Amino acid sequence: KVIATQPSHVRLVVVKIITDQPGLYGYGCATFTQRADLVVPAVEKYLKPLLSGMPADRIEDTWQACYNSSYWRNGPVLNNAISGVDQALWDIKGRQANMPVYQLLGGKAREAALTYATVGGTDVSQAVDRVHQMMEQGFKVIKVMVGVPGMSSYGPRGGPAMKGLHSGPVFEPGPYMRLTQKMLEACRKQLGEEVGLIHDVHERVTPHEAVQFAKDLEPIRLFYLEDPLSPEHIAYFRQIRQHCHTSIAMGELFNNPHEWQPLIEERLIEYIRCHVSQTGGLTPARKIAILAENFGVKTAWHGPPDVSPVGHTAQLHLDLASTNFGIQEGGIIQGLEAEIFKGCTTYKDGYLYASDAPGWGIEIDEQLAAKHPFRD
Ligand code: MG
Repeated sequence: KVIATQPSHVRLVVVKIITDQPGLYGYGCATFTQRADLVVPAVEKYLKPLLSGMPADRIEDTWQACYNSSYWRNGPVLNNAISGVDQALWDIKGRQANMPVYQLLGGKAREAALTYATVGGTDVSQAVDRVHQMMEQGFKVIKVMVGVPGMSSYGPRGGPAMKGLHSGPVFEPGPYMRLTQKMLEACRKQLGEEVGLIHDVHERVTPHEAVQFAKDLEPIRLFYLEDPLSPEHIAYFRQIRQHCHTSIAMGELFNNPHEWQPLIEERLIEYIRCHVSQTGGLTPARKIAILAENFGVKTAWHGPPDVSPVGHTAQLHLDLASTNFGIQEGGIIQGLEAEIFKGCTTYKDGYLYASDAPGWGIEIDEQLAAKHPFRD
């Protein structure tokens, strides 16, 4: 069964697998919000007929069957559909074992997962102020962006957009990189050495500019620089590594093992940052974490609002059990989402804690979810 709901601004898709044993079911995140309407039939029309009547306790085998079922594979729609099934099977196995899933993964390597806040300022001084506010709220690491005057941006705007040569917004890498460097230098100078600073390039500069930018930011000693290159240009990570020691995180747009494997095996990044449902669920993400462990690469799973609360909880369980866990984005479930998805995560003083209830520890108020269907 697919639960499709939009309690806030993001469309969420969650798979519920129901077994023939009364009260035994599980939930998994299948949220690909940009194409949410396509994931629903991928589950209902294609995976459900394959899975109906199958045993619920063969997670790996079921994952491989789903993965190969379309012959062509590693696309975002099918990977998310598989993730919904996969995480629901892990939830069921936890409920059967009467254990939280992190126990099935080997037990806790830590009590809680370090998380970070994301802030932005319309200018340098506002960005510095907002980082300082988050430090006072207990966050040890903060992702920070700054708006560039007249330009479109990822995050805050630096005032009204200038009129361009076409109808769309204007973005120029040069002003963006120069102002961002000034802003990060101001954060480091005014807020000290202890705060961890993250900046997300969001794949918006050319490969050559990315190499230069990573080198220019080296003295700031970022916690990491996120997505300096697009997936089409991952070969340029070798150049970044040759030129500087800036810590790099990459992976939220990855769907295919051939995207993350070389970056890990060649030790070209410090943090692997896949979007768990885009890789196909907990089963492949666990394998990525273990591969990365062997090469000294840490995990920093992508955790924006377009991961469902089930998905945030699933990656938190993996965080707790992974010895090479680095940091977790997002995961603080609030408002109407917290009313629909009960028992997800608990935030305290910069860290996320998991429930000790069996499986993910989540129960979904499906009636309340149904009152908030997808909007156009
Ligand atoms: Mg990003």
